[in-house]
Amino acid sequence: MKKVILLLSTFCFLVQTQAQQFTLVKRHKSTCKIIIPEMASVVEIQTALVFQDYIQRISGANIPIESDIIKQTENEILIGKVDRPELDNIPFGQLGKDGFLIRNSEASLLIAGGTEKGVLYGVYTFLEKYLGCRKYSSAVTFVPIQKTIVLQAINDLQVPAFTYRENYYRDAVDPEYADWHKLDSHGEQGSNTSEWGSWVHTFADLLSPEEYGVAHPEYFSFYDGKRHAGMVPSWDGKSEQPEAQLCLTNPDVLEIVCQNLQTQIDQKPDALYWSVSQNDNVHYCQCPQCSSLDEKYAAFTPGSKMYGTHVNSLYAPIGMGSLMTFINKVAARFPDKIISTLAYQYTRVPPKDLIPAENVNIMLCNIESSRNTTIEQGDTAFSSDLEGWGKLTDNIIVWDYVIQFSNLLSPFPNLHTLQPNLRFFRKNRVSAVFEQGNREIGGEFAELRSYMIAKLLWDPDVNINQVMDDFLTGYYGEAAKEIKKYINLLHENNMAQSGIKLSIFGNPVQEKETFLSDSLIKVYNQLFNRAEKAVSESPDELQHVKSARLPVYYAMLEIAKEERSGDRGAFMTTSNDILIPNPKIVHILYDFFYNCIRTKVSRVSEWHTPPKEYLAKYLKFFEEQGIK
Ligand SMILES: [Zn+2]
Repeated sequence: MKKVILLLSTFCFLVQTQAQQFTLVKRHKSTCKIIIPEMASVVEIQTALVFQDYIQRISGANIPIESDIIKQTENEILIGKVDRPELDNIPFGQLGKDGFLIRNSEASLLIAGGTEKGVLYGVYTFLEKYLGCRKYSSAVTFVPIQKTIVLQAINDLQVPAFTYRENYYRDAVDPEYADWHKLDSHGEQGSNTSEWGSWVHTFADLLSPEEYGVAHPEYFSFYDGKRHAGMVPSWDGKSEQPEAQLCLTNPDVLEIVCQNLQTQIDQKPDALYWSVSQNDNVHYCQCPQCSSLDEKYAAFTPGSKMYGTHVNSLYAPIGMGSLMTFINKVAARFPDKIISTLAYQYTRVPPKDLIPAENVNIMLCNIESSRNTTIEQGDTAFSSDLEGWGKLTDNIIVWDYVIQFSNLLSPFPNLHTLQPNLRFFRKNRVSAVFEQGNREIGGEFAELRSYMIAKLLWDPDVNINQVMDDFLTGYYGEAAKEIKKYINLLHENNMAQSGIKLSIFGNPVQEKETFLSDSLIKVYNQLFNRAEKAVSESPDELQHVKSARLPVYYAMLEIAKEERSGDRGAFMTTSNDILIPNPKIVHILYDFFYNCIRTKVSRVSEWHTPPKEYLAKYLKFFEEQGIK
């Protein structure tokens, strides 16, 4: 009897599975139709076209797009909010703006999405997860060729961990890349209309010292016995910036800020987030009214908690009493908008007995965190502040930094921290993330990093090793194994060095005895020699490998300058005691330069030093330092 039941249940399972099979394409032909709503939205039309295009690229089959006013038939692909009974039980409420549902029966395939790009994201996930397509970079798309496509039962509902996901890399500017990887953008670039009307440090835009400084110094910070309403040179000396902050308890300041904010909103009515945030300096107002609010709501004795970036500052952290009181008043005037403010430097510590209004967004930045360990373990000051904010609100954006900005082409072993950091953010009710990568073209493992970050922003629990392996195989082909060994070795040796901070403003010379030691660099070069050999007949993959190798060369060049002589130094002594440039280093310098140019690397440091300038400076160094 037992056996019969077992056989029976297996049979039922087979019947059920078969019943839910949906044939999309058979021998390069399809009997399907793509159905969109009669009054389809822009996103629904785009989604239908993406579906049609990729199915043709995979199989050669051309599936027509029809409106839902036609009579329902078998083999329909339902895109968006179509008038079909299959849509009756879709939990649209659960999908939010970007979530989606992919579901099929034997008669139809349905892709439905949230209020914004959900349906489009659903189709890209369908292509990736169920048909094997990949978008490794803006330039590398993989489309598998299949003559027949039969879907097994799918019932896949996905909602992202963060409602706003920005991955600040050049690849993410590409509209298809951004949509494929479900990314937002605070700029106007890419395919996304920005959700942000303004971004950070906006006090001066909302109440300008140049306009009001002379007539109304009382609108600005009071300290050292007077008001500070002027402008000072900016950090690079190229422009001016406000000397101080606003006096946030002055009622006229609130009125002027709100009036100017309204004017800005009128110009970009669709933007949801508006930044009302402190200028980039620590000169807050110490007038009796502002100080009294700061003291009243301070969760600690003002000045008792100091951070790396301003440990020597005369202006100790004060918390957010006066600022949060002010921001809540602004937010009350704009109930349909989200007012974002910086909890930054002197305002980063969450207040006591003061809760941000629901439409207030708190922006936290972890610029000083060490990067070879997780933020939770390595930066307890930031972690405890985030945990505190997470208890007060779930409307938090973290501005996170994931590369070495001072040396964009230096090895930076922090890949292992990406997942735990995003999980930590999610645990503390962060709703939006801005991952600041490389604004320039190129950079260490730029494509791999961008790919991993995009996947983690959608789902911090994704199997990230699988994601990485998939990328390495797709992007580096036969060289994937050697590249993986290099990544592992770099990270193992970094993690073994306890107590050394891996900084986003560091440099490779600091690591010359750790993960960039002479012996390890030798191993890295052996791995890259093998990797290049493995793909020597695939020009694209070979170029990817050469790009991945640039950071090893860059580290060697920087260490050579520092060491000057010896095995890894920039110079060697000839038999008649003349100092000449080390031929090995000269060779690497030109190889580095050529491959930077070949792959359009725009700068070796954020904001400055294009490869051509790097080469010129290095040659000058040879010339000036050589004869001594
Ligand atoms: Zn004041």
